[in-house]
Amino acid sequence: QDARRDDATIATEDAAEAARALLAVLTGAEPDGVWSAPGRANLIGEHTDYNDGFVLPFAIDRRTVAAVRVREDRRIRVASTFDPEPGPTRPEGPLDASAASGVGVGIEIDLADLAGGEFPRDAVPEWAAYPLGVAWALLAAGVDDPVGVDIALASDVPVGAGLSSSAAIEGATASALRDVWALDLDATALARIGRRAENEAVGAPTGIMDQMASMLGRRDAAIFIDCRSLEGTPVDLGFADAGLELLVIDTRVAHAHSTGGYGDRRAACERGAAALGVTALRDLSPADLDRARELLDETTFRRVRHVVTEDQRVLDTVRLLREDGPLAIGDLLVASHVSLRDDFEVSCPELDTAVEAALAAGAVGARMTGGGFGGSAIALVHREEADAVSQSVARAFADAGFAEPGIFVVEPSDGARRDS
Ligand code: ADP
Ligand code: MG
Repeated sequence: QDARRDDATIATEDAAEAARALLAVLTGAEPDGVWSAPGRANLIGEHTDYNDGFVLPFAIDRRTVAAVRVREDRRIRVASTFDPEPGPTRPEGPLDASAASGVGVGIEIDLADLAGGEFPRDAVPEWAAYPLGVAWALLAAGVDDPVGVDIALASDVPVGAGLSSSAAIEGATASALRDVWALDLDATALARIGRRAENEAVGAPTGIMDQMASMLGRRDAAIFIDCRSLEGTPVDLGFADAGLELLVIDTRVAHAHSTGGYGDRRAACERGAAALGVTALRDLSPADLDRARELLDETTFRRVRHVVTEDQRVLDTVRLLREDGPLAIGDLLVASHVSLRDDFEVSCPELDTAVEAALAAGAVGARMTGGGFGGSAIALVHREEADAVSQSVARAFADAGFAEPGIFVVEPSDGARRDS
């Protein structure tokens, strides 16, 4: 047995314990139910989701847990072990219930104040807009006679590391409220609810990939998602059978989705699609790039080229996984990174160092994952070389004067579910 694998399992159990303990602080009682949803890593397909394109993420074995108790009144309260005011550096590692002191009271609001109208963003701290935004989006979709709830949240998904702790908190909350409010909504519908919360309650203009991955994840598989039809198809990864492991390298550089670069890249994509007369960049193929080069300014062209070639790389990765298995996809992962670095310009020195050091130490493939500007990289490695790759990356970071990265194995895991 692999010791690192056990760590992840234990950490997830700790999050469940922490959520129960926090609920006990809030209510003095046991939960009526416990739900959880995972973070995700994206194998390939970056910045393609909001262009109606293709993505291939998988849910990871790190989860956000929601311990829930129904209330007598019509109010909703959320509390989290995550420190909502982490200061300039974000917290790391699993959190226990003792970290909840001070936030134990949670954030409480009348359901009536969440129903019918805009999300009351100014009335709640930013973190609470994720779970309360989910409640708001569900209420907007129509709930008969909703009961009040207390929701205690704990997580071992690193926050702000590009592994979508945001989709995890949305998925855990949405799954819990669906069951407690007896709503007839499937996983894709809940993914849409999560995205609506993130876009309109939090105000972060993200695509649908993260929520789909967290809701639909499947053990040992990635989910091939067509972000136009929202159809999700599991694709077997077979890492273990091929003797491979997937490392996440958390650069510990905080990324900020709602600001700056992300919005700018989306705008460039919309500009490119409009200039080329298509609904979304998904409607272009690599054969259209010559025309794009003539019509677009240099920067917009490179943004478009990334998206168009990345869509093709996702399709190629799915085909290679099915035909030849995971050892065959390394070059596509690297090509994705190069395109994100040079054409889309969303990498950073830490991510480039992680990828270069991993490849130099023998990784089959490596790339940044998530939106970029920090966050995490992934490296697909031979199991027996995992430690050597980790050490090489850590050494490269030290040599470059970067903060020590967090490096851990992730396993493709099941999506959102009720745990008890
Ligand atoms: P990522 O999704 O890559 O982790 P985001 O910036 O999209 O980063 O989402 C992180 C934000 O989501 C946090 O700053 C916090 O507001 C909220 N969040 C995520 N997980 C939790 C949690 N367990 N408790 C409270 N807030 C959380
Ligand atoms: Mg996020």
